[in-house]
Amino acid sequence: MRTITIVGVCKSYHNDEILQNLNLTIPSGQFFALLGPSGSGKTTLLRLIAGFEEVDAGKIYIGNKDITHTPINERKVNTVFQQYALFPHLNVFDNVAYGLRIKKLPIDVIEQKVHKMLKVVGLEKQMYKAINQLSGGQKQRVALARAVVNEPDVLLLDEPLAALDQNLREKMLVELIELQDTLKTTFVYITHDQAEALTVADTMAIMNQDGQIEQVGTPKEIYEFPVSSFVAQFVGSTNILSGTLVLHETEELLDVPYLGKIPVILPKERAAWMVEGAQVFLSIRPEKLHISKTELTDFSNMLQGMVTSIIYYGRSTQYNVLLKNDLTVEVFTLNDKHITTQEIDYDDQVYIYWQKENAVLLKE
Ligand code: ADP
Ligand code: MG
Repeated sequence: MRTITIVGVCKSYHNDEILQNLNLTIPSGQFFALLGPSGSGKTTLLRLIAGFEEVDAGKIYIGNKDITHTPINERKVNTVFQQYALFPHLNVFDNVAYGLRIKKLPIDVIEQKVHKMLKVVGLEKQMYKAINQLSGGQKQRVALARAVVNEPDVLLLDEPLAALDQNLREKMLVELIELQDTLKTTFVYITHDQAEALTVADTMAIMNQDGQIEQVGTPKEIYEFPVSSFVAQFVGSTNILSGTLVLHETEELLDVPYLGKIPVILPKERAAWMVEGAQVFLSIRPEKLHISKTELTDFSNMLQGMVTSIIYYGRSTQYNVLLKNDLTVEVFTLNDKHITTQEIDYDDQVYIYWQKENAVLLKE
């Protein structure tokens, strides 16, 4: 088992508390993404797992083994950084072979392992090239091969694709997913890019600006059922209405100033904050909203507004609609029919509506 368990970890720099009592379980053999804004403490957590830094308090386990105070070279953990940190004076082969030589493995074993790994990352033909003859993407593949050839239990990746251009990043992401699938090593992938995290992760954790984990789940769980408006806004985009909770016997409503009472659904697992009069939020994703110029008579989840801008993307169109409470909401529509004339125009009065089960009620 290569599960990483982080229990009550605290870390300060000078008197600045970066991580406070952090608890997190990273499942064995998964592609795990840690997503959070810049400066939230992601790299700090990763450096603690790798052993580059010491915790102030708390414990870190890999499997059943307490590695909190284990020296770096005795942890079966390897790290790939944003900056490749390759040895510029060594060629591709020697860069990848470096760790194996330190372990004093027999030459033929080293040859075999390096060849196999360079094949996995598609660099066999570049084996004897100097590092400075490689492209950015190739360098990052060398860095990956060098980290993975040591067969670590855990591979830590700290924004490894940040220095690459968009096209290459997408290609490398697919390669990383395939590599993890082949090796079944636990990958911990740090990023501030939500699209990247959604793409790669089996499980993802969302860290907020204060270094606290707000939610852990599959990309679908996080996207469809965020637990806070921070998560809802950080992963994808969303519209947030704030109001007062009204609990009737037959239905639950959100009373929003200037907009009226909007039907909502309480999650099955009732939380302590879901009480009459609570100040709460409703998150509605833009693609869950619909737009129409005519009123739908039997729809209670409907609000009136005015179109302030239209952004045509080809396959979809985004409408920005100004509501009566001065909030502008985003509505995405799929252009699944030919649009010959623009049906909805700027300054049009429109109705936006949604199914109440497609919105999520949030405490904060
Ligand atoms: P992230 O990787 O999420 O962008 P970091 O873990 O790098 O965030 O940094 C979190 C906070 O800790 C930042 O405010 C950063 O300035 C601070 N920090 C990180 N490393 C050090 C250090 N060695 N000394 C002092 N402060 C640091
Ligand atoms: Mg970082």
